[in-house]
Order: sequence, then structure tokens, then C-alpha cells
Amino acid sequence: MTGSGADYSGLLRPEIAGLEAYTPILPFEIVSEQLGRPASAILKLDANENPFGPSPRALQALAELGTTASIYPDPEYRRLREGLAGYTGVEAKYIMVGAGADELIDLIMRLFLSAGERIINCPPTFLMYAFDASLAGAHTIDVLRRADFSIDLPGIEQAVAQHHPKIVFLTSPNNPDGSLIAREDLLRLLDLPVMIVLDEAYYEFSGAESSVGLVPQHPNLIVLRTFSKWAGLAGMRIGYGVFPEWVMAHLWKLKQPYNVSVAADMAARASLEDLTLLRERVQGLIQERERLAQGVAAIPYLEELPSAANFILCRVLKGSAAALRQRLARDYGILIRHYNKPGLQDYIRISIGVPGQTERLLDALREIERGL
Ligand SMILES: *Cc1c(COP(=O)(O)O)cnc(C)c1O
Repeated sequence: MTGSGADYSGLLRPEIAGLEAYTPILPFEIVSEQLGRPASAILKLDANENPFGPSPRALQALAELGTTASIYPDPEYRRLREGLAGYTGVEAKYIMVGAGADELIDLIMRLFLSAGERIINCPPTFLMYAFDASLAGAHTIDVLRRADFSIDLPGIEQAVAQHHPKIVFLTSPNNPDGSLIAREDLLRLLDLPVMIVLDEAYYEFSGAESSVGLVPQHPNLIVLRTFSKWAGLAGMRIGYGVFPEWVMAHLWKLKQPYNVSVAADMAARASLEDLTLLRERVQGLIQERERLAQGVAAIPYLEELPSAANFILCRVLKGSAAALRQRLARDYGILIRHYNKPGLQDYIRISIGVPGQTERLLDALREIERGL
């Protein structure tokens, strides 16, 4: 049978047909409607966005976009990549830009993985690695982090020997806990016969040394970065990666020519010309992170973990994380992230806000404590 009654679903790729149904993240306006509060009265601390917003120069570049919006961007994004070379200290020939680091994660999967092949993932961590691997029809081998969220180095080495994966994904600082991977651990993993993808989305908040400078000497290291968090451009979708030269040659073949919009390109370049101010804001958020951690330490039903990122992870010791998230949203208009899965049972993740926002959150947490 053909026509409207026919079932064409057998034509789908089985990897996609087998995925769980899509459940969208609710946009901010709809959440605000559901909570019965105007968007301006909601404190959004659930997605690690930058509370300062884009830099003034980035905003100005966007306001002045004008007729350039009708012209396709440079497919090589030469000016932005030159700017990033200055920012990272790595030559532009190693740098590729993407519509967020997320696009580059997907491109890496498509570069290396055929159906049935494997990656190693170290959960609890960022969800996109396993998700994009499944889209490629690849299998994810989980090597769980230890209770303190450090990576299990011998476990990864053993899993590489046993499963012959093509890629190991690492995140430093890690999302959702904010822990770092030590340089000597990274160097040890680079000896393995796999590609190592190191996601440094939160590098600017860490005070640690970046690993981008290792890429030219290590043909199996890829480092990912983004403008979403430190530069306040999450909505523009602009990230980049530092890739070995031999990988770049193949990445150019795969990348959509105009993958980054003119607006995102301009906003990113303007941000790189506003570094003094953006770095001051990052310093402010780091100070605020320590203030929030101190405040949370005085709240008996929460236990906070040390973080090198723009968020802190806390274990909920009394009641459930889901109930706490719901109370903060419903009674106080404060949005945070909660987790309830193996290795992450009853945890909340709070993005760092500006000083007044930290007070509002801590006041709410103290008030909830009295009602527990
Ligand atoms: C937010 C985040 C990203 C995504 O960055 P985009 O550039 O916004 O796509 C990548 N990795 C980690 C660990 C993140 O938390």
C-alpha cells in the first residue's frame, strides 16, 4: 500500500528510530508563564549562562550588523580564527569554529565513527557525547567517575584495551561538578591508541592551565572551547576546537561551509576585542562562586563540592533534589538544575549569578530549611 495510510517508518535509519522520543527543554517564556511570574522576576540559574550577558562591544557589533546579514560569511572564518589564534596562543591552522561546541562534538563523531563502533564516556558528565554517539549508531562504554567525581584512569585504560574504542571524551572542568583533570592524567591518556577529546567549555573560570598548547605536539588530542559561558554568547551558538593538523584536513571536507552565522562571527570577534571587561566579569563570577559556596556550606541540608567552573554541584541531604528544585521554582521563581540518576542521586547544580542574585538564592534556601 502507498499513500496517506502507508507506513514509511521502515525507511528511517534504525539508530534514529530506536532513540527515545524527543522531549524539548521548555523555553524561558513558557516556564515564566507556568510559574505565573514575568520573565524579569525569574532568576535563571539552571543552564550556566552568563548573568552579565554579552560584552558591550559584542552588543554593538550586533546592533550594527546591517546589510552584512544578507551576505554569506567567509566559510573559512579567517578573521575570527586569527583572533582565536591570538586568544589561545595556537596558530589559526589548528582552529575550527562551530555553531557552539555542540556542533563540533557532532562533527567529531561523524569524522571518526561508523555504526557499531565505540566511544568511552566518563559519566556523570555532559550528555551530548553519548547522545551524538548514539546518533552516529556508535556504542558508548561508560567508565564511571569515582565518588569524588575524579576520572578512573586505570578503568579507562582497561576499557580501551578491552573495547577498542576510537574516542575517549574528557571534560575539564567537568559539568556538572566542576572538577579538573590533572595534566599528568591527560598526558598518560594521550599514550593510548585513541583520539582524546578534551572539552574545556568552562576553562576561563578554572584558573588552571589550558591544554590547547599540547595539540600541535599530540596528533590524537582535540580541545573544545565555547563563547557560551565566559563570553555570554550562549544564544549566538559559537564555539571552536583546536585540532591536530591532519584532522583539520578532513574536518574542512565535512563542515557545512556557512556553519556559523555572520552575527555569531561578529559577536565573537567583538568579544575578543573586549577581553579586559570580559575577564573582569569572569573574575567577579569566580569570587561569587566562592561566596555562594560559603553560603551553601552554612546550610545543613546541602553539601557543596569544590568547583572550577561557573556553577556548583550540591548533594541534597534531606528531602529530594526534585522537590527542592520545584519549591525554588514555584515559591521563589528561582530555576536550578536537579539530578536523580546513578552516580548523581539527589544533587542540584546552581549556576553562579551576580551578587544580589546569590543573596536571593541563599535567602530562599535558608527559608526552605526552616520549613523542612
Ligand atoms: C555548555 C557546554 C557545552 C556547549 O557549548 P555550546 O558552545 O553552547 O554548544 C559543551 N561542553 C560542556 C561541558 C558544556 O557544559
